[in-house]
Amino acid sequence: MQVVILGESAPYPAPGGATAGYLVQTEEGVFLIDCGSGVFAEMVRHISLSALKGVIITHYHADHVADLGVLQYAVMVERMRGKRQEPLIVYANQNPPEKFLEVSYRDHVKAVPLQSDSRIRLCGCDITFTDANHAVPCLAIAVESNGKKFVFSGDTGPSESVEALARNADLFLCEATWMMHEQGSASAGHLTTLQAAEMATRAHVKNLCLTHIDPAYDKEAVRKEAEFFFQRNVQIASKGMLLEI
Ligand SMILES: [Zn+2]
Repeated sequence: MQVVILGESAPYPAPGGATAGYLVQTEEGVFLIDCGSGVFAEMVRHISLSALKGVIITHYHADHVADLGVLQYAVMVERMRGKRQEPLIVYANQNPPEKFLEVSYRDHVKAVPLQSDSRIRLCGCDITFTDANHAVPCLAIAVESNGKKFVFSGDTGPSESVEALARNADLFLCEATWMMHEQGSASAGHLTTLQAAEMATRAHVKNLCLTHIDPAYDKEAVRKEAEFFFQRNVQIASKGMLLEI
């Protein structure tokens, strides 16, 4: 299993960058987790749209869904041109319902509702979920394939359920929205570097990669701070990065 970082900025992209979007690639195909600002343009640098087997949406903040409308149009055009036969399936948080209803598009994009106890199989992966601790309903995701486990935190504050989902993960892709010098202004529903490192330590994850990084931050400083708390190597997500699991 491979994960390609399509974007890591939050809540808005760095110059030339992108917000949340992650491709998961197996021998059986490729799917996308979240579709934020700039993600579509980066995605089609790595795969052809016709190869995309499905999409998972954790929640409906713009930094995770801004390019969903672009994706809907692109799938429509591909199908009109005969490059794609089947509609695109988007597994999307069923809450709030009025947002979920916007995910389907004519007969080109079909939305399938997700909740914390959903289980889906996609590209040979068993995928499970749990509720993250965020300002709006948000799901964390565990992807398991061939004995390997990849977990994405979604957007979350400290959460026992996300920590349990991440237990023994080969790769934990975890949000870290705040550096410690700004922890006083840290909003609920997000993690500091310390909190992300604490969750990863308690969950005994093998590898930690931090994402959801403020474009104003120096990534090297974020990495050093996280490694101080994690006491092991930490990767910081960046657009185009390939992570082997
Ligand atoms: Zn976000």
